[in-house]
Amino acid sequence: MDPATIQSSTPKIRQVENSCLFCRIVAGEIPATVVHRTETTLAFRDIDPKAPTHVLVIPVAHHPDVVALAADPSAAADVLATAAAVAEKEGLTDGFRVIFNTGTHGGQEVFHVHAHVVGGAPLGPMLAGK
Ligand code: AMP
Ligand code: ZN
Repeated sequence: MDPATIQSSTPKIRQVENSCLFCRIVAGEIPATVVHRTETTLAFRDIDPKAPTHVLVIPVAHHPDVVALAADPSAAADVLATAAAVAEKEGLTDGFRVIFNTGTHGGQEVFHVHAHVVGGAPLGPMLAGK
């Protein structure tokens, strides 16, 4: 679907992909439990948490994956800064993981880039069975 230009809650005009779940969350069309927001990022709780704390951090602008995000260094830095802010807000003082699932082998299901911030308990091996 073609990107549509909409008026967000801020005065800026921005591009959204109408067919993109996370763009629709940014637009307020789909509810989410928001834990932190900046002008350029949004952090909300994962609907199916895999750890006591499981928050998704996204850029407001649509980038399909971390490769596309890397081409926008300012947005990439903002996503990492928000991930760090979420970890602090959630009290993850004993550590946490930031995960970007990417592509088929990475198990990516939603193609609006998102950092998973997970923690709140020991997370076990980095990869299943390893
Ligand atoms: P990934 O497999 O890395 O693309 O992760 C997608 C994540 O989005 C999964 O952990 C889902 O549980 C999560 N998710 C899917 N729909 C929603 C939603 N409406 N609100 C919050 N999280 C969602
Ligand atoms: Zn999107």
